[in-house]
Amino acid sequence: MNKKKISIIGSTGSIGTQTLEVIEKLKDKFEIISLAGGSNVELLNKQIEKFHPKYVSLANKDERLQPQGAKVLYGKDGLDEICSNKENDIIVVAVSGRVGLEPTLKAIDAGIDIALANKETLVMAGDIVMKRAREKKVKILPVDSEHSAIFQCINGHDDKVERLIITASGGPFLHKTIDDIKQATVEEALHHPRWNMGKKITVDSATLMNKGLEVIEAHHLFSMDYENINVVVHPQSYLHSAVEFKDGSIIGQIGVPSMHIPIQYAICYPERPHGIKTRSFNFVEAAKFEFLEPDFVKFPLLNLAFNAGKTGGTAPVCMNAANEEAVYAFLNGKIRLYDIYTTVEKIYNQHNIIKSPNIDEIFALDEEIRIKTRELFS
Ligand code: NDP
Ligand code: MG
Repeated sequence: MNKKKISIIGSTGSIGTQTLEVIEKLKDKFEIISLAGGSNVELLNKQIEKFHPKYVSLANKDERLQPQGAKVLYGKDGLDEICSNKENDIIVVAVSGRVGLEPTLKAIDAGIDIALANKETLVMAGDIVMKRAREKKVKILPVDSEHSAIFQCINGHDDKVERLIITASGGPFLHKTIDDIKQATVEEALHHPRWNMGKKITVDSATLMNKGLEVIEAHHLFSMDYENINVVVHPQSYLHSAVEFKDGSIIGQIGVPSMHIPIQYAICYPERPHGIKTRSFNFVEAAKFEFLEPDFVKFPLLNLAFNAGKTGGTAPVCMNAANEEAVYAFLNGKIRLYDIYTTVEKIYNQHNIIKSPNIDEIFALDEEIRIKTRELFS
């Protein structure tokens, strides 16, 4: 059997390293074409040593890089070149933040399937990305656990879907008061009860903005109206999301919380090989399956994200850019956790929406909003 040729952008991150763990267990099924990291050259060197890619890339030139014969690339051009390379069967987009969008478009244009972890890509330009993917017959395979769950539940029966139920763990502040949230430290926000992820998404999980981004992601991936997307808090994170069909039947995807499963499903689709062995789910031990309404007062960013999604056009672009900058400001000690919301709300309320932006307008607006947001902290 021919090996699937795969490249990973963001190979040094949380999703990237877990993708390589899956591939290591499925060595006979994959050949790694390229690995791209940001600045973690030590880890990239170890990955090169182990997986022998043909192309490697870092965000900036670094003399410590040991390519071992691989072609060395840098920056945005490096990611673009990796994603345009038709040698690939599939590209895993596991970079964080806005850097994911352009390489994803390059891969689509080259007709290469995508395992998409980077949710900002669909939040910023979901209409454009999905339209181009349809035109090019490129598969966008979701890596995000909720979307992987929904994708597995729908299983081709798109026309019979009534409603999507996206589950949320609730994050570290689920049972805290609004005052606790206002006093929260960076350390508390980074202490997620269920998942070990990159810092940006961990903060988004603490504010529930992550769920808001996921609602918009689901709208685009599954062409579902916002009225038919519900968020329900499920602290145990066993039910990874569910789909209600037109006949009233609900199908959900259950398992121990592990990103290996959705990553493996995306890169192996439509197969389900014996790959990395995740502990079997034990219903009796699990015992408790709780479900709660999300608290929109404590977590107002979730509401704002629903609003931005429904408004459409550049509303999600504005929200996403302001949020990303505010999250970095919080991580750098410049603002408090709750100020992420007040910042995003302020920038969002000043924004004049463009209804159907093209990709250049999206990038220009993204940059403009980031500058405006950063000015609030200087
Ligand atoms: P991490 O912060 O752990 O990893 C981000 C990766 O992107 C790293 O490899 C980093 O490189 C790389 N990177 C950052 N900036 C650049 C750049 N300018 N050029 C090239 N590479 C760059 O994030 P996660 O793995 O947690 O998340 C990745 C994406 O997946 C996000 O969009 C997130 O929302 C999404 N996601 C993550 C989940 C998770 O469980 N972690 C679950 C669902 C979705 P380096 O570290 O070398 O600087
Ligand atoms: Mg998720």
